[in-house]
Amino acid sequence: MDFIKSVTLSLVFTTYSFGQQLSSFTEELFNEYSKYEVEGFSNMKVEPDFLQKQIDLITDKAPGLFEIRLLGHSVEDRPIRMVSIGSGDIDVLMWSQMHGNESTATRSIVDLLSFIAENSKQKSVNSLLQDLRIHFIPMLNPDGASRWTRENAIGIDLNRDALRLIAPESQILKRVRDSLNADYGFNLHDQSKYYNVERLSNEASISFLATAFDYEKSRSAGRDEAMQLISYLYQINQKYIPNHTGRYNDDFEPRAFGDNIQKWGTKLILIETGGFKNDPEKQLGRKLNFVLIGSALEAIQKGLHKAIAVEQYSQIPRNDRNLFDLKVEKVQKKVNGSYYTVDLGYYIEKSEDDSNKDQVVYQVTLEDQGDLSTYTGYKSFNAEGLKILFPKVYNGRIKNSAHEESLLEDGFLYFTKAPSKRYVPTTMFQYNDGVEQEWSLENTYFLINEFNQPKYLFLKGQIIDLK
Ligand SMILES: [Zn+2]
Repeated sequence: MDFIKSVTLSLVFTTYSFGQQLSSFTEELFNEYSKYEVEGFSNMKVEPDFLQKQIDLITDKAPGLFEIRLLGHSVEDRPIRMVSIGSGDIDVLMWSQMHGNESTATRSIVDLLSFIAENSKQKSVNSLLQDLRIHFIPMLNPDGASRWTRENAIGIDLNRDALRLIAPESQILKRVRDSLNADYGFNLHDQSKYYNVERLSNEASISFLATAFDYEKSRSAGRDEAMQLISYLYQINQKYIPNHTGRYNDDFEPRAFGDNIQKWGTKLILIETGGFKNDPEKQLGRKLNFVLIGSALEAIQKGLHKAIAVEQYSQIPRNDRNLFDLKVEKVQKKVNGSYYTVDLGYYIEKSEDDSNKDQVVYQVTLEDQGDLSTYTGYKSFNAEGLKILFPKVYNGRIKNSAHEESLLEDGFLYFTKAPSKRYVPTTMFQYNDGVEQEWSLENTYFLINEFNQPKYLFLKGQIIDLK
C-alpha cells in the first residue's frame, strides 16, 4: 500500500473505530463488576487448592452449565483442570498463569465464571453460549503458583517449552490446543510493572500482542484478525484507562506457546497486565481483564471487531521500559573527594521471607544512575541540594531522646552499647544486630543539607523525613 493511500485509510478508520461507543455488554461488565467479584482473591497470590474449591462452588450453583475436565497433573501432582461452557461451533481457549506468579487473569476468570453462572439465562449471555464454546484453563502452572515463581517445579519457563514439551504442563496445553483446534486463543499473563507507554510517563497497565509466527513477523488472515480484535479491546481501555495501554514487543520467539499457537492456526491474543499506581495487588487489572475477556467474547460472537482496519493495531503505542519504583533526583554523590549530581533509579520488589511468612521483605536494587530525566518513578524524591552521607556508628551510650536526636544530626545511625536505663531508641539501630555493616546506595544513607545536617534517611527503599 502506498503512503498516501494508507494515511487516508487510517484517518477514515480512526474516525470510524476510535469514535465508537462501547457496547452495552461491555458497559454492563464494567459497571456491575462488583456484583461478580469473588471473595478471597484480593491478593496476587492464589493457592491452587483454594482456586479449585472456589471454582467448584461457582459451578455447583449452576448444575449442567459448566463442564469441568481433569486434563492431567503438574510435576508435583497437582490437578490441572479446564472449565468449558457453551454449545457453539466457535471454540475459544484461554489459559492463565502458565507463569506461576502471574495471577491477575486467573482471578478475572473466576469472576467471569461467577458472572456467567448468575446470568446464563440473560439474553446476551445466553446467545453468547449458543454461538461459542469457551474453555478456561485458569491455572496452567499450579506448582509455580504454589511457590510463587514464574517457572514450574522443574524450574523451567513453560512459555519456552512449546517445541520440546519437556514439562507435563506444556504437554497438556499442546494436547488441548490440538484436540480443540481452537479458533481463538487467549494467552493471559502479567508483565513487569516497569513497562510504560512509549513516550509517556504512564505505566503500561495493560499490554496487548498479536503474536508473530515467524521471524519476518508475517501477516496472515488469522494474525490480522487477532490485530483487529486487539484494536477493538484497545478502545475499551482508552475509555476506562486512557493512555495506559501498550503494544507488547512482537519479536518472534520460536519456543513460545503464543507464537506457535498462532502458527498452528488459532487466532492468538496475548494480554499482559502491568503495573497500577497504588494498586499493588492489581485489583483494577483484575477488573479490566474481566471486562476485556467478556467483551472479546462478545466481539467474537458478533464479529464486532471485523470492521476495524488491521492498521489500527500498529497505532497502539508500544511498551517501553522507563519506570522505576523510586527515583531520587539530583542528589550529590561523593567520589574521590568530589561531588557529582546524579539521579538514582531504584527497583523495590516485595519478596516473602521464607522463615516468616508474615514478614514482608523488600529487595532494593539500584537499577541505574546518572541523567535519568527520561525515566519516571512510581514515587520520586527531589534531592536537589542534598548530599549522600553514609551513617556512622556511635560507641558511647545513648542517654535519652534529645541525645539520640543530636547523634542523628551528627550522622550517627547505629550504636554499639546498650542505651542507659530503660531508654528505647526510636530511630537508631543496634550495630551488629542482624543489620548490614557495609552501607551502600541500596541499603542505608543520609541525605544531608549544605550545613551537613541529616535531613532524610534512605533506609531499604524508603525515604524517611528526620523531622
Ligand atoms: Zn508471563
